[in-house]
Amino acid sequence: MDDCIIIGAGPAGLTAAIYLARFHLRIRLFDCGTSRAALIACTHNHAGYPEGISGKDLLARMLAQAERYGAVRELAEVTGLRAAETGFVARVGERDYPARAILLATGVVNHRPEMSETLHAEALARGLLRYCPICDGYEVTDRRVGVIGTGDRGTNEAIFLRGYTADMTLIAPEAEHDLPDELAAELDEAGVKRIDGPCGNYAIEGDRLAFDTAQGRLAFDSVYPALGSRIRSGLAIQAGARAAEDGCLEVDDHQRTSVPGLFAAGDVTKGLDQISHAMGEAGVAATTIRNMLAEQRPLRR
Ligand SMILES: Cc1cc2nc3c(=O)[nH]c(=O)nc-3n(C[C@H](O)[C@H](O)[C@H](O)COP(=O)(O)OP(=O)(O)OC[C@H]3O[C@@H](n4cnc5c(N)ncnc54)[C@H](O)[C@@H]3O)c2cc1C
Repeated sequence: MDDCIIIGAGPAGLTAAIYLARFHLRIRLFDCGTSRAALIACTHNHAGYPEGISGKDLLARMLAQAERYGAVRELAEVTGLRAAETGFVARVGERDYPARAILLATGVVNHRPEMSETLHAEALARGLLRYCPICDGYEVTDRRVGVIGTGDRGTNEAIFLRGYTADMTLIAPEAEHDLPDELAAELDEAGVKRIDGPCGNYAIEGDRLAFDTAQGRLAFDSVYPALGSRIRSGLAIQAGARAAEDGCLEVDDHQRTSVPGLFAAGDVTKGLDQISHAMGEAGVAATTIRNMLAEQRPLRR
């Protein structure tokens, strides 16, 4: 039986793997290869890389560091998780893997505007499409920026980005905006333009991302979809863990879910969706897991 199975090898899962492997624990690391960090063309807000670093390079460095201490990333999707008498059982393919503790670091998946995979990848790589104002709002300072969204989420994102540029437009993804008077007033007061959708027919035109709206074709230096995310917390919920309404896992300040022995870190928990936060939570989770296991059975060399 493994001491801990880590599900997910993004910044959270890999940080935990480094810690747990260096605690001399027997771990297993499953990953299905869809880290949100792999979509980052170049992060400039992650401390320690003054020239910035691509998400893929950062993940490769973290994996190399974990491997140095014996961790192995197994490319596989965990499809089931249940509590057992002495811990948990994770299901992968046709096999069951028992472990004394589980760390869920499965992240989230952003809802995307409707466009081809190729166009999405090129627009991301060129910074024409962005998903994280906290991460890269700086890069759109004084540029022409569009947010695809409406309601609270769209308004919050547009108002946040208004701190970087005066040329801000909020475009409804579907037909008309869904904006109560107070949100509309907030947008007006901030000078954010409002355009109805539906949005469609996306294409890169020159150095801009263009698309159709109810008021004709528009083009922006950068477009932020504010369409929400799918939280990959299903496995933990299956094992009995409590989640908030949006699907984010509830954890205490040691990253413990409501199920003893089941921990969570990174975007899948409620909190700031950032690399630094994912890493910090994973460090806390890994250390708590180590101490919990040592209480159950003294760890000796
Ligand atoms: C375009 C973009 C730009 C960003 N820029 C920045 C930035 O500049 N700075 C910053 O701090 N943050 C940035 N972020 C946010 C950052 O990527 C996330 O906060 C970070 O990746 C969260 O790490 P995580 O480990 O929680 O999740 P993820 O990185 O998403 O990793 C989760 C992992 O779990 C695996 N997984 C999921 N389910 C299963 C399963 N059932 N079985 C096995 N494996 C599974 C996935 O394959 C994935 O590898 C950006 C995000 C995007 C999309």
